[in-house]
Amino acid sequence: TKHYPVRRTARDLTSRRTRRVHAVDALDLTLHAGRVTALVGESGSGKSTVARLLAGLEPVTSGTVSLHGDAVRIRNYRSFRAYCADVQLILQDPFASLNPVHTIRHHLTRALKLHRGGMKGARLARALDELLEDVQLTPAARYLDKYPHELSGGQRQRVSIARALAARPAVLLADEPVSMLDVSIRLGVLNLLRRLTDSRDLAVLYITHDIASARYFADTTSVMYAGQMVESGDSESLTQNPAHPYTRLLISSAPDPDGPPEEEVPSTDSGDPPSLISPPPGCRFHPRCPSAMERCRSEQPPRAGLGDGRWVACWLYADPAGETATAREQEP
Ligand code: SF4
Ligand code: MG
Repeated sequence: TKHYPVRRTARDLTSRRTRRVHAVDALDLTLHAGRVTALVGESGSGKSTVARLLAGLEPVTSGTVSLHGDAVRIRNYRSFRAYCADVQLILQDPFASLNPVHTIRHHLTRALKLHRGGMKGARLARALDELLEDVQLTPAARYLDKYPHELSGGQRQRVSIARALAARPAVLLADEPVSMLDVSIRLGVLNLLRRLTDSRDLAVLYITHDIASARYFADTTSVMYAGQMVESGDSESLTQNPAHPYTRLLISSAPDPDGPPEEEVPSTDSGDPPSLISPPPGCRFHPRCPSAMERCRSEQPPRAGLGDGRWVACWLYADPAGETATAREQEP
């Protein structure tokens, strides 16, 4: 058997899928150290599948996931563990990932021993203190011997983040990390993640249904619809001047782009997301799109560059002649 060790200094993670699968396809995502990339979509758009796929929990049936330029192949538990040390996943509900019968000390000690090996005594105690300091739970002694249910939701999510940091990951995948928290404490957790991104040079994938929070928190944003990426680019530019009709719908139904991150999925008054098992032909958004044209019903739109690394997959921006997309002025 061959081993495929994952480099510890990994800086980018790329996933590319080309053929149609049930959950997601045409995914083309690059994460960069020290940067937050948001993946925005409604529930059922496949964004959690992307997180699971990149976390090594779903098989990649076509295309590759690369870490620092090397294709990742998870063949056995050993290679899975090596990969997990570099790529850590934080879930929406910290309750689901913290065992209620164990203290915070137990959870963090286990993670430290798993990823940093043979820690005990004073060294272990110091590492535990540092982990909790990193997530602003101080003094550590106040939290270490508590059980998950004795902490608030925000504190629990901070513990999940601390546990992820125990692995000294290069990549942090955060799947709706604040959507179950009270609105009042969301910003604090996002600010913490931002600070860690900068200080640890982490590559962060921030998965959310809330495009307003992506604008606030992420450097770049990709919008996902029905298992496919439909638009991508600099967060500020994309949210100020959305190109894809679906992104426009998301923005117009987001309550207040400058307000705090919202709780509910934006209500879109033009129908529900389609099934991923049998998505509509052509552009998957065509049944809900106010600008749908004839060719949208049968032909998949190609990606068109909009400059500055932005692109959109929509016939409105494509060369009318066909497959070769060219950048075109965005219509108001
Ligand atoms: Fe709408 Fe057509 Fe663009 Fe799809 S390709 S978003 S249906 S205009
Ligand atoms: Mg989800």
